[in-house]
Amino acid sequence: MSSQRHFLGIEGMVRADLEALLSRAREHKRSIEAGFRKTPLAGRVVANLFFEDSTRTRSSFEIAAKMLGAEVLNWSTRGSSVSKGETLLDTVRNIEAMGPLAIVIRHTSSGAPALCARHVRCAVVNAGDGMHEHPSQALLDALTLMEKLGGLDGRKVAIVGDVLHSRVARSNLHCLIKLGAQVVLCGPPTLMPSGIEALGARVTYDLTAALEGADAVMLLRIQLERQGESMFPSAREYARSYGLDAARAARLEEGAVVMHPGPINRGVELAPDVADGPKSVILYQVTNGVAVRMAILEACA
Ligand code: ASP
Repeated sequence: MSSQRHFLGIEGMVRADLEALLSRAREHKRSIEAGFRKTPLAGRVVANLFFEDSTRTRSSFEIAAKMLGAEVLNWSTRGSSVSKGETLLDTVRNIEAMGPLAIVIRHTSSGAPALCARHVRCAVVNAGDGMHEHPSQALLDALTLMEKLGGLDGRKVAIVGDVLHSRVARSNLHCLIKLGAQVVLCGPPTLMPSGIEALGARVTYDLTAALEGADAVMLLRIQLERQGESMFPSAREYARSYGLDAARAARLEEGAVVMHPGPINRGVELAPDVADGPKSVILYQVTNGVAVRMAILEACA
């Protein structure tokens, strides 16, 4: 965690920070499994401010906060004074005036949580900002991979899909490289940010090459809401070239795992039988999200 207690992105964190949070998440996971509850955040409030839709992240931060004994405010744009023109900073400052320990923000604009962090005294947690970062997702993915593969050092992880618009890809890239994994990025050239190799990943446009020797494959959703125009011919064409279907999944290494941050476009980036098949750890990722977010919230105190 940074000295300010904010949790804004993986890019600014060092390996030791990531490992400390992961190890704390493992402890929380063990306590949950043992039915043992401590409530270090009793009497504190966690405010969830979601300016963009969410299923997993919002529920998971809410459950995590409640598991730690905190009260939770669930705020969303719909029904708020944003429709009357209230700005992001005014909204956040007003919520802060009610005294929360932390404000968890999801926003369509990259950098919105970092901007808020400069204007409030409470901790700010990034729950996904535009095309920038989704740091809690990267941590829960790292925990999943460590548990399923027995470690990350030297492991090969293929991230496949709309890398250009994906905050999940960016946070995972930083996180996996810091934790010693090799990352291969794969997708159509129109959905690959130019120069991304500089961050330490290998890039290929050929799915078969990306999957060769991979210990894990992480599929990304096509982020239609962040694309001005169509950047691939059709969903069918995309699935044919970059979708993980049963035939491709069958050629994966023994023990390799299939991941997806959700929501899945079934039949586009991932075939339904693979999403629900034996190599899939997708719901395990969701389970791990709670313990990881408990570690993140606890570190805000
Ligand atoms: N749920 C993830 C996110 O909010 C992934 C996605 O939406 O495709 O970034």
